[in-house]
Amino acid sequence: QFMKSPINEPILEYAPGSTERKDLEYAIKELTKGPTDVPLIIGKERITRGLEQKQVYPSDHKAVLARFTHATSDDIKAAIEAGLSVREAWDRRPLKERADILLHAADLAAGKYRMALNASTMLGQGKNIIQAEIDAACELIDFFRFNAYFALQLVKYNPISTKVSTNKMLYRGLEGFVAAVAPFNFTAIGGNLASAPALMGNVVLWKPSDTAVLSNYIIYKILEEAGIPEGVLSFLPSDGPVFGDGVTDSPHLAAINFTGSVPTFKYLWKRVGQNLDRYTTFPRLVGECGGKNFHFVHPSADVQSVAAGTIRSAFEYQGQKCSACSRAFIPESMFPKFVSAFGRIHKQLKVGDVRDGSTFVSAVIDAKSFARCKSYLDYAKTGADGAEILFGGTYDDSKGYFIQPTLIRVTDPKSKLLTEEIFGPIVTVLVYPDAEVESVLRSVKDATPYGLTGAVFSEDKKFLAHAADVLRDAVGNLYLNDKSTGSIVGQQPFGGARLSGTNDKAGGPHYALKWSSPQTVKETS
Ligand code: GLU
Repeated sequence: QFMKSPINEPILEYAPGSTERKDLEYAIKELTKGPTDVPLIIGKERITRGLEQKQVYPSDHKAVLARFTHATSDDIKAAIEAGLSVREAWDRRPLKERADILLHAADLAAGKYRMALNASTMLGQGKNIIQAEIDAACELIDFFRFNAYFALQLVKYNPISTKVSTNKMLYRGLEGFVAAVAPFNFTAIGGNLASAPALMGNVVLWKPSDTAVLSNYIIYKILEEAGIPEGVLSFLPSDGPVFGDGVTDSPHLAAINFTGSVPTFKYLWKRVGQNLDRYTTFPRLVGECGGKNFHFVHPSADVQSVAAGTIRSAFEYQGQKCSACSRAFIPESMFPKFVSAFGRIHKQLKVGDVRDGSTFVSAVIDAKSFARCKSYLDYAKTGADGAEILFGGTYDDSKGYFIQPTLIRVTDPKSKLLTEEIFGPIVTVLVYPDAEVESVLRSVKDATPYGLTGAVFSEDKKFLAHAADVLRDAVGNLYLNDKSTGSIVGQQPFGGARLSGTNDKAGGPHYALKWSSPQTVKETS
């Protein structure tokens, strides 16, 4: 059962003219030839009836990347049956064999499929080259390798045996099936939500996001080629409520592994509550939801790193990382310098199509997201809450769903621009009098119901330690002198506190235990 601790997958740079850049451009060209048809996958079946759904390019929304079909409730029932029929055989396989499948999948993702993963994530989810590489390649590969490693570490634990008893813990999968509900914003998260439970001996119904169907399907193919048997993973693009109701109505629901919005997670949780008397086990609910992540800046902070870090956190991937900074607290004494430092970088940000290698910000994911961002910008333009748009503020969806990266200043701390999740390239600042640093710091936590990520910037080490103490239960991931995004598997296990989720820490050593129902066996001698 021995496996050395993995190292994080190195990030390729894709310099113009490099082999990797040429390979990527080739993969992009292949995908742009015409839509890829993505089937529903249930056991041996590949279903392509209808193909009425479309995944388009966010930055060029008339172009169709993939066509697919939504699962019906009968498809979901069939997938549950298919999963249950292979569950025991899969769970009886030694963990080492299942871990080896994930390691094989990691190698396929790092090699043969790397460019397809990146190209589909760029075109379909609107990521630029580097944002795709750190997600669809590196993080996905890291999830496969580290989860395999952590699982093998977990099962090494042996309970105490005595002269009269030999004791063992056997890490069984959960009895039933796991429903994995994946988001659009990280390709790797879809892979993790489905493969981590499978690694621990579970069967999984995997619902990809409609706006990330193709990249998730490529992950499915990688796992299949790596050796996951038919039926263990069902691939089920679906209408949200049809899937949610289908899985929560089944007596065999063992767990939900969810990443998405707070209202959807609450909906699933309520359905589970309503159906509690039907289930054969208590379903485990693992969720990662939204945030209203902050950068809190102390007067001693280095203004250049605050400006650069805020731009990266708020605008990389168009602010659509759950961890993106969307509110910043800046001391009055620093504000003029902050604005000029921010402005110098802001004017260099290239907004455009992901196929252009110099693009920093591309389009938001879809029309709904565009409309939401637009409504917040229109609100800011009325001057409500003392709002003033300092940079950006414009939008244009004639070709793609483009929102200019925007910095808004408000004077009202209760402004919805400072409290509601926007999920776009928009960050709001509150400028505070330096003398009020303590009370403003203390107000950060309860200004929103969320608790995903936050960052504190200060050159004063004592203040950093103090702030970390004040914010001890405010967020699941706290950054000191660094931006609030960019957690790395194995380095910063990721998950939110409060209404940002159940904080089960994806990419951490304890995640595997969520997907196991261990049996303790005592044998007397
Ligand atoms: N782990 C990612 C980060 O730290 C965010 C994940 C998410 O958006 O759900 O930036």
